[in-house]
Amino acid sequence: MTPTDDPRGHVTPALTDGLLRALLDSLGRSGVLTEPDDVAPYLTDWTGTHHGRVGAVLRPRDTAQVSDAVRLCAEAGVAMVPQGGNTGLCGGATPDASGRQVVLSLGRLRRIREVDPAADTMTVEAGVPLATAREAAAAAGRLFPLSMGSEGSCTIGGNIATNAGGTAVLRYGMMRELVLGLEVVLPDGRVWDGLRAVRKDNTGYDVKQLFIGAEGTLGVVTAAVLRLFPQTPCRATAWLAPRDVDAAVAILSVLRERAAERLTAYELVSRQALDMVLAHVPGTRDPFRENHPWYALVELGGPAAAEDLDTVLEASLGEAFERDLLVDAAVATGTAQREALWLMREGVSEAQRSEGPSIKHDVTLPIGDLAAFVADVGTRLRALLPGIRLVTYGHVGDGNLHYNLSGPVDDPSALLVLRDELTAVVYERVAQRGGSISAEHGLGTTKRDAAAALKGEVELDVARAVKGALDPTGLMNPGKVLLT
Ligand SMILES: Cc1cc2nc3c(=O)[nH]c(=O)nc-3n(C[C@H](O)[C@H](O)[C@H](O)COP(=O)(O)OP(=O)(O)OC[C@H]3O[C@@H](n4cnc5c(N)ncnc54)[C@H](O)[C@@H]3O)c2cc1C
Repeated sequence: MTPTDDPRGHVTPALTDGLLRALLDSLGRSGVLTEPDDVAPYLTDWTGTHHGRVGAVLRPRDTAQVSDAVRLCAEAGVAMVPQGGNTGLCGGATPDASGRQVVLSLGRLRRIREVDPAADTMTVEAGVPLATAREAAAAAGRLFPLSMGSEGSCTIGGNIATNAGGTAVLRYGMMRELVLGLEVVLPDGRVWDGLRAVRKDNTGYDVKQLFIGAEGTLGVVTAAVLRLFPQTPCRATAWLAPRDVDAAVAILSVLRERAAERLTAYELVSRQALDMVLAHVPGTRDPFRENHPWYALVELGGPAAAEDLDTVLEASLGEAFERDLLVDAAVATGTAQREALWLMREGVSEAQRSEGPSIKHDVTLPIGDLAAFVADVGTRLRALLPGIRLVTYGHVGDGNLHYNLSGPVDDPSALLVLRDELTAVVYERVAQRGGSISAEHGLGTTKRDAAAALKGEVELDVARAVKGALDPTGLMNPGKVLLT
């Protein structure tokens, strides 16, 4: 079975000529792609492991066209796969192998409808790239804090659908906490206008939260009201070599104590991950003479008038040295150095991709368990596959590790032969420690069954009831997140 086959055997009709004509009438020629070369970019995911086929790729321009397209497909019984920037890491935006589904690309819904600096809100359409949304906020003197390595390509709609995290969660929370209102096209084509911009709204169920993190299985997000924050033009950034993972966690406590809400990012990078970055990402250079097993990237941020962040950072690092938690530290002295340090963290995904096949795990654990988890699981994985490379990095301030694996240098593909066994070890240990097997990437098809196995029947029943109520015919991104 390929990962995109519908394991329940649900069969939806292929696109008929009548449906195609109706879609063309509504969306126009540029809104309906059917030629193999035109649809190809929408059929494979960023990791290159998920491939599908489609009857067509639909590219509506606005909410009314999304509504039309969804209604026409629903009436014809054709399944739809919403897609934003196609940077998701769990196969959620890839159609199945049948060729009977359509991809519904939101990429042309790119309007910034409003930026309201006084209210600290911004209303943007789903296809706006995250980087563009951040720039629009900055142009109005505000900060939209969601930030991640894929921000040039991923979209606000995809960020909402995956409840994306990234490097600023420590201070600002995940996407769920950054959304005030939503506009959604429901699976029958009706538009729900929930574009509310108020911070307090206790009028019953918080319906918007259902669509956040639903990975396009309950409806299509077309626009959102997002929260904005004061900018943090002053920054202090350092690259640290903590003694070990426990020490990295202890340094986080020191930073929290001294910097409080000015601590904006705290990221972990293993030596293996750094080695890949240094080998593949131009412009990177190890700031230390000696190798260390672990590194942490810390950043403090504040308004221009804030007291000297460098002083707070230096005092924190001084305490960490005194308590023997820290072996070395390099503090950025300007923008170029700051960017160079960030490149060593944000280049890991691309660098690992250059090293051949990988298995990606995106786990969270109680933060005090991270060191024991890394030691224990590392030992077990090395026993299963000698030479395996553990490309561990991530948002350690949130207890979130990207516990990624690459195969041995001389036989990278050996990894994939043992995929199930290796992943079982990781998931078993995460479950034993009360963690989660998907911290921020979602489930898609890759983690759907593993997540179901870890949840009780009661929770699954609730999830199926929600899906059944909103999408009774099961045409909205079928086979993703949960089996119905
Ligand atoms: C280099 C790199 C770094 C990354 N770093 C991070 C990180 O730090 N944190 C993090 O959380 N993720 C990260 N990701 C993963 C990815 O970028 C996020 O999941 C992102 O939110 C996906 O957005 P997208 O627009 O690309 O969505 P897509 O990949 O197109 O879709 C993802 C899911 O959302 C659904 N969807 C998309 N748009 C809509 C919509 N408008 N309405 C309804 N459903 C929709 C799709 O059906 C699919 O299920 C990274 C990825 C890469 C390649």
